Amino acid sequence: MSLITLNHITKSFAVGESQFRALDNVSLSVEPGEFVAIMGPSGSGKSTLMNIIGLLDRPSSGEYRLDGRPASTTMSDRQQARLRSEFIGFIFQNFNLLPNVDVLANVLLPAMYSRDQRDSKQRAERLLQEVGLGHRLRYQPNKLSGGEKQRVAIARALMNNPKVILADEPTGNLDSKSGQEVMKLLTAQRHRGTTLLLVTHNHDLARLADRVIQLMDGRIV
Ligand code: ADP
Ligand code: MG
Repeated sequence: MSLITLNHITKSFAVGESQFRALDNVSLSVEPGEFVAIMGPSGSGKSTLMNIIGLLDRPSSGEYRLDGRPASTTMSDRQQARLRSEFIGFIFQNFNLLPNVDVLANVLLPAMYSRDQRDSKQRAERLLQEVGLGHRLRYQPNKLSGGEKQRVAIARALMNNPKVILADEPTGNLDSKSGQEVMKLLTAQRHRGTTLLLVTHNHDLARLADRVIQLMDGRIV
């Protein structure tokens, strides 16, 4: 069974009087453990697609199933939030760290929504050690370099042991060396069978994937 299944997904936004289709009849399946790169020009719908897969947004029409569950249609926001925290780790181009709490608290954040609170602090510390930031636990995010911020975001994304990592241009704001470190950490997750969806403009990174999907004007081409 596919982990991710999108059937005829459309996402429309109101633009003045008319509707703009950011996604237009997208169908896609991703198998457990697959690494899929998503490419396409700016505005082609890549982030809209990631937000729907990550349960941050709902499609206007069509069906999305995550691990066999009808995630887009019949679920309440609460059910979606629980499924998201169990299944999905999100990594954004702009890191999206909380600015007013330290690195450790940022990584602990996803555990606040999970049922098992035991050992979460030790786990957060261990994840930060694994991304090479064991010496930065008490730093505020604004004291870190871009590469360090993204490594914090990776540790945060891994906190709940997600089945799927959604990385939306994770190296877009990084120099090439930091970008390589980030990609090394992301692709290393595949040993654990983690499914990885990566939005990138970088053909060298896309070549690492099992499959490349091209979006254009909201459609898979
Ligand atoms: P990409 O990530 O490929 O650059 P996006 O998915 O962010 O593209 O956006 C696709 C299109 O949908 C763009 O034209 C964008 O302006 C539009 N769009 C995205 N989100 C919204 C929104 N919340 N309201 C209106 N238009 C949106
Ligand atoms: Mg985008």
